[in-house]
Amino acid sequence: MSGSCTTKPTPPQTHGAPFWLLAELTYRCPLQCPYCSNPKDFAGYTNRELTTDQWISVFEQARKLGAVQLGFSGGEPLVRQDLSKLISAARGMGYYTNLITSGVGLNETKIESFKKAGLDHIQVSFQASDESVNNMLAGSHKAFQQKLAMAKEVKANGYPMVLNFVTHRHNIDKIDRIIELCIELQADYVELATCQYYGWAFENRQSLMPTKAQLERAEAITNQYREKLIQEKNPMKLIFVTPDYYEERPKACMNGWGQIFLTVAPDGQALPCHSARMLPIEYPNVLDHSLEYIWNESPGFNKFRGYSWMKEPCASCDEKEKDFGGCRCQAYMLTGEAENTDPVCAKSPEHKQIIAARNEAELPVQNKFIYRNERNSKDYVTENNLLIATDSSLDE
Ligand code: SF4
Ligand code: SF4
Repeated sequence: MSGSCTTKPTPPQTHGAPFWLLAELTYRCPLQCPYCSNPKDFAGYTNRELTTDQWISVFEQARKLGAVQLGFSGGEPLVRQDLSKLISAARGMGYYTNLITSGVGLNETKIESFKKAGLDHIQVSFQASDESVNNMLAGSHKAFQQKLAMAKEVKANGYPMVLNFVTHRHNIDKIDRIIELCIELQADYVELATCQYYGWAFENRQSLMPTKAQLERAEAITNQYREKLIQEKNPMKLIFVTPDYYEERPKACMNGWGQIFLTVAPDGQALPCHSARMLPIEYPNVLDHSLEYIWNESPGFNKFRGYSWMKEPCASCDEKEKDFGGCRCQAYMLTGEAENTDPVCAKSPEHKQIIAARNEAELPVQNKFIYRNERNSKDYVTENNLLIATDSSLDE
């Protein structure tokens, strides 16, 4: 017997199970939010969507890998005619299911059908508390009334009312009015999430980013309302999310690359996070590989696991286990290299870009937006010589 061992060593386990599966069912959407996190080149993929059976296979495989929560998102997931069928299949596998919707396209019949299929949770997003601002940002003159009606309908059907308001410089000064609207609607949970600057929001950053003073005022008002809600024994929970751009340390993005989140894009591309499509990485597709291979072995998912990929200052930093060097997409957008330290960190040599953006936010308000729509996306695809997918497997 030779001294060498023939058993293949087990690679160090650097990740757990993909607990959270986000199924981006489609990039189609009737709205045009200028802060949408969908990829700027989404028009290149709108003709390619997984079929019902392909999605069900993804759910089964992810469940076997340990996924327990399943979010249906998009685009607008309601445009998929098979949504009830997908919900029912997912519930049958034991998932906790969550529909993330703008509410546009929802109606009483659909809510009843989702309820029958076992849907656990519906989150409705608003652009503003004011009809004209809401519709200006959504790029639709009917969106606000439809959202109001559907939020009420969701509650009437026994679902917890979960509302999401993306805040930015055009609505953040009305935070009191936003919270009052949520109280009127008897919301149970409200997420007041300040815009994060990815995808379309990055293009519109100058028109969206609030000033520090606006942000501080909004947080103070939110805290006052929290006190008031406690005094009035109102169980509504207010969650206030600040933008990275006013922090000195980055967030532990997605709890670490490929640690617990798995996103599957409409065309089957598997991603460690819904924004990661922008990175120059070849991601695996569920049509070509098993999820088991994708999650555990694919180069795309292993790219930023562990710490060996890090450059300085992260590589020798004693905080790297807290934030994993921040967000790879933010590092790529701002420095051109995904391996760099997220410039939100004050230790990054590029933190000056964050300071410059804060200073830019002090300039007069801009009302110019690049809307997230098919035409603008196609322009982006053409300008960047990207390919538009031509095969169609739309499951209508
Ligand atoms: S953010 Fe707006 S445009 Fe983007 S998917 Fe949601 S509703 Fe549609
Ligand atoms: S240098 Fe890197 S690891 Fe250290 S705090 Fe900043 S982002 Fe985190």
